[in-house]
Amino acid sequence: MTTHDGMYIGGQWRPAASAGTIAVVNPADERIIARVPAGTAEDVDAAVRAARAALPGWAATGPAARAALIAAVRDELRSHAAEIAETVTAELGAPPALASAVHAGLPVAVAGSYAELAASHSFEETIGNSAVLLEPVGVVGAITPWNYPLHQIVAKVAPALAAGCTVVLKPAEDTPLTARLFARLVHRAGVPAGVFNLVTGTGPEAGAALAAHEDVDLVSFTGSTAVGRRIGAIAGAAVKRVALELGGKSASVVLPGADLAGAVRATVANVMINSGQTCSAWTRLLVHRDRYEEAVALAAEAAAEYPPGARIGPLVSERQLRRVRGYIEQGVAEGARLVAGGPESPLERGFYVSPTVFADVTPGMTIAQEEIFGPVVTLLRYEDEEDALRIANGTVYGLGGAVWAGDEAAAVAFARRMETGQVHINGGRFNPLAPFGGYKQSGVGRELGPHGLAEYLQTKSLQL
Ligand code: ADP
Repeated sequence: MTTHDGMYIGGQWRPAASAGTIAVVNPADERIIARVPAGTAEDVDAAVRAARAALPGWAATGPAARAALIAAVRDELRSHAAEIAETVTAELGAPPALASAVHAGLPVAVAGSYAELAASHSFEETIGNSAVLLEPVGVVGAITPWNYPLHQIVAKVAPALAAGCTVVLKPAEDTPLTARLFARLVHRAGVPAGVFNLVTGTGPEAGAALAAHEDVDLVSFTGSTAVGRRIGAIAGAAVKRVALELGGKSASVVLPGADLAGAVRATVANVMINSGQTCSAWTRLLVHRDRYEEAVALAAEAAAEYPPGARIGPLVSERQLRRVRGYIEQGVAEGARLVAGGPESPLERGFYVSPTVFADVTPGMTIAQEEIFGPVVTLLRYEDEEDALRIANGTVYGLGGAVWAGDEAAAVAFARRMETGQVHINGGRFNPLAPFGGYKQSGVGRELGPHGLAEYLQTKSLQL
């Protein structure tokens, strides 16, 4: 067990203001693997000051020089991929193959995309007799969750730096080791002191202090809708910018004529990735009543291909385990039919849940409305396309989704009517440049690619 001291503030590791610590637990064996400082409002204030002091210099650094430093960060991420993957496995429980392909690999791609965008983006445009300048918003407070610990950090820090903003990061308490490793790599890359700062700590203390800090210009938050709502209210009262990436309950809609087996397998795989801890996971599978029972059998079969402890890791924490089990029990209590998995522990140790499939789920059930954040697929039956659309759009969320059809045009026509930020058509692959974000209560703002960069810019018009 390692006890870490210090926060990364103003280009150096400084002792935390108070002695409190947070234990980091390996969810696969339930052992405490490290302790990190529990930052307080005092640490947050020091970090915000460092970010504010570094802002004029960084904002004045030309796009080409910013791009070169982001590229240097990308190179550090790439050359430390093995250490990143090991760290994510240790504190999140991600199986090694997933940790290296996604948790370590995706951030390299995203950082690389912002190295390119910083250099190529046009930070000035002409509208009539006006020169419109796209300037950095200022000091960014970034609050990130544990589910994709490094991706969530890089998806905020890289565009913020590309825009010329400086950052204070408060990562999730469950996965602070990945965040500390990121800070080390930013330092190694030569990013100037104060441009990036890290304060570990709890949400209610360090997170709340960062969101409320009067010298933070933009709060970028990814996490639960409950906390996002609170952060949005605080930011609104202070008239500061806010970006919120929140929960989801995405629908995977199989239209008649689609390859049913392929669609079901892909949907189950999508939910099982990261043990179901993905905000955009396609957790509601919608199938026409004529092929519903066939789909149920296929889904149960597909779930059996994800043995806990091998292809599927544990949930991040005991708290999440309790939460997910509670939802599974509630599904049974509300009358859904369990066709795979269930609430029992599949292994002696670790926060594991079996891949779980529910049939006979109706749109009003809790498991069809609330985000479970575990390896749980719900199968809903629809009568016709209008019914499918009503069900697909019938939650407070709108983050991801999928449509499967015999031809692409039919799938696209359906997707156009979905109230959601992203839709995969017949298994279209993930695009790290496509805007990612929510309709309805799934959030405000977009991440990734040029749309993600725009979040960190504000405009000034000069009338010539
Ligand atoms: P989850 O329930 O999935 O852990 P949360 O929304 O609670 O998601 O956490 C996401 C991030 O928000 C974490 O970094 C957490 O520490 C932080 N957080 C939690 N509560 C607050 C709060 N009241 N103010 C600011 N940040 C918070």
